[in-house]
Amino acid sequence: MKRRLAILGSTGSIGTQALEVVKQHPDKLDIEVLTAHSNAPLLIRQAMEFMPNAVVIGKESMYERVFEALDPYDIKVFHGSDSIEQVVEMDTVDMVLVALVGWSGLKPTLRAINAGKPIALANKETLVVAGELVTKLAREKGVNIYPVDSEHSAVFQCLAGEFHNPVEKIILTASGGPFRGMKHDELVKVTREQALKHPNWNMGCKVTIDSATLMNKGLEVIEAKWLFNLQMNQIEVVVHPQSIIHSMVQFADGSIKAQMGLPDMRLPIQYALTYPQRLPSQFPKFSFDQCLQFTFEKPDKENFRCLSLAYEAMRLGGNMPCIMNAADEVAVHAFLREEITFLQIPELIEQCMANAGFVGNPTLNDYESTDNEARAFATELLRKF
Ligand code: NDP
Ligand code: MG
Repeated sequence: MKRRLAILGSTGSIGTQALEVVKQHPDKLDIEVLTAHSNAPLLIRQAMEFMPNAVVIGKESMYERVFEALDPYDIKVFHGSDSIEQVVEMDTVDMVLVALVGWSGLKPTLRAINAGKPIALANKETLVVAGELVTKLAREKGVNIYPVDSEHSAVFQCLAGEFHNPVEKIILTASGGPFRGMKHDELVKVTREQALKHPNWNMGCKVTIDSATLMNKGLEVIEAKWLFNLQMNQIEVVVHPQSIIHSMVQFADGSIKAQMGLPDMRLPIQYALTYPQRLPSQFPKFSFDQCLQFTFEKPDKENFRCLSLAYEAMRLGGNMPCIMNAADEVAVHAFLREEITFLQIPELIEQCMANAGFVGNPTLNDYESTDNEARAFATELLRKF
């Protein structure tokens, strides 16, 4: 039986790599739904190649174009974020890959879980914003969430066969990003172009900037807490610049298991989409000829303050990670528009966290208003920067 997929965000970095995986396994995987936000030409090309049952273009102004191009085919075309939430419920969808970016992943993920669909989750922000709500619903509905993020996939792979053995701690690896080793004096001068050049990974803009500030690792610490039901002191971060060890798990006996591979997202994407099987792969594989030294260092939390801010948001709980996430999205986009400097990213996030209204046990409505308020506050602050 083929697994029929809905790929939310098929035109992005994860979405396009997921389609490469699907192409390698036409006997195992099939495309039922594709969604994009504004990249109509790519969505049209993907639809013509994979012949899904339905596509959704988020931006209404692009609808006519997609509709006309796909009119000769037997493909339903919808538009708007409500449609993205609705298509995940289709009977013919067996699994939903959430490869949307930022806050936009939360509601479609909740809808898919409610409909009992297994989730392959790339969109870490969903668990950062509302990890408690999402994981509680998944437990109630008996829905599995398979991590796509490489570190969490690594932890998940290390846990295979260890169901009854308690985890002492997990160790998430970080590449350190393009500015590893730089201190304040150098970081004040870094540019958008430099920040977008990640040494090991080729990813979407948002996650690339988050990697440069180490906010990505902060988001991943929170993501790991919810995915693996861990306490804050059970999650460590170590910098491993070669990005070959994708993360580790330490058990009660002191044994540490690590998962290794090239920094290529197609491996964790495939593992999530085809779990529990490990299917053959034609993509390049790691060999010890390529990398003779693995090194490790402590993350520099003083100069890369976003990581500490994320630990603080996690410690405070409630809607604080949601506030931090909204502020980060606003700050990253302002940095990409060259309206603020690199070091103003943590500054803006910190001020938002200090000033926003705290809610201890938020509902989905609370998260929505928190997100709106934090974005408005962050946008207002931008004007003063
Ligand atoms: P991209 O920016 O490359 O792609 C995002 C996708 O979501 C695109 O298809 C885009 O459509 C769509 N999209 C953007 N905004 C909206 C919106 N408001 N509503 C609906 N759809 C939207 O992101 P990535 O693929 O890099 O990342 C996706 C997620 O995966 C992120 O959460 C990221 O942190 C995570 N991740 C990514 C990794 C990577 O290697 N890229 C690694 C690990 C995690 P369009 O193209 O039409 O604008
Ligand atoms: Mg990651």
